[in-house]
Amino acid sequence: MARPEQRLAANTPGPFYVDRTCIDCGTCWQFDPAHFAPTGRTSHVWAQPQGEGETRAALMALQACPVAAIGTSRELLARSPADGFPAPVCSLPAGAVHYGGWASRKSFGASSWLITRRHADGRPNNVLIDSPRWSGALARRIGALGGLQRILLSHRDDVADHDTWARHFGAERWIHTADADAAPEAEHRFEGTEAITLDDDLLVLPVPGHTAGSVAVLFAGQVLFSGDHLWWGEDPPGVVASRRYCWWDWWEQVRSVERLLDLDVRWLLPGHGRWHRFAPGEWRRELEATLARLVEEPGGEP
Ligand code: SF4
Repeated sequence: MARPEQRLAANTPGPFYVDRTCIDCGTCWQFDPAHFAPTGRTSHVWAQPQGEGETRAALMALQACPVAAIGTSRELLARSPADGFPAPVCSLPAGAVHYGGWASRKSFGASSWLITRRHADGRPNNVLIDSPRWSGALARRIGALGGLQRILLSHRDDVADHDTWARHFGAERWIHTADADAAPEAEHRFEGTEAITLDDDLLVLPVPGHTAGSVAVLFAGQVLFSGDHLWWGEDPPGVVASRRYCWWDWWEQVRSVERLLDLDVRWLLPGHGRWHRFAPGEWRRELEATLARLVEEPGGEP
């Protein structure tokens, strides 16, 4: 529970605040950039919400915070939405994509994503990519959307409460064999570095580098769930692959970036960092620019 006496000085005066327990995971400003922003080593409220819609967004950011570092008044807290997450991101003929919210400290606030879709006979065929923290409120909402049939884990860092989610919904879990010790109970393994077709609209792309068993998931040929392999950055704007946050093999990660050049991604939905929407054809240009920056940076030649 956030404490007003630990409120950070950087907060704009008003009912919402971030306190000293912030771990700078980025969840709040990725979800609600209209009110939250990074400060350096923490985040802060840079603009207080005005009106019903903005207050709802700030209350959802408060729910999503993995360490309860966001506080507000008792009156506003009582208005926290029970139906906020999963929050819609985009809707395609093959299914809808939602942001899971309810981030977990166990995965340093990583984002989780839900695809809701159906088999031809009408049965739900939903997929969770990475795990939010366990939340009864979120489980009720996912249940109303058809539950979970599969959980795909992008890599070892973002498994969080996968076991509780899998047990609750009877979902089958997948993780790459190279990261499988992080979720040894997972029912299925991805192997090797070749693309794996799980369904017509669901392609798993092994992208070793950040960890040995990192995978990205491509939905409907245009939504890329990238785990911690790639995200969108602001300074400069563009796709980021981070050497600083590479835990296994940097040049293997760069080769894994190159293997994604031929996609035409329209939505980049990462574990950490900003989400981004691309115009047709923009993905390749951005990724080529990213690869050029990686080679130019100090120590950039393999
Ligand atoms: S979500 Fe919470 S821990 Fe993460 S940056 Fe925001 S206030 Fe800090």
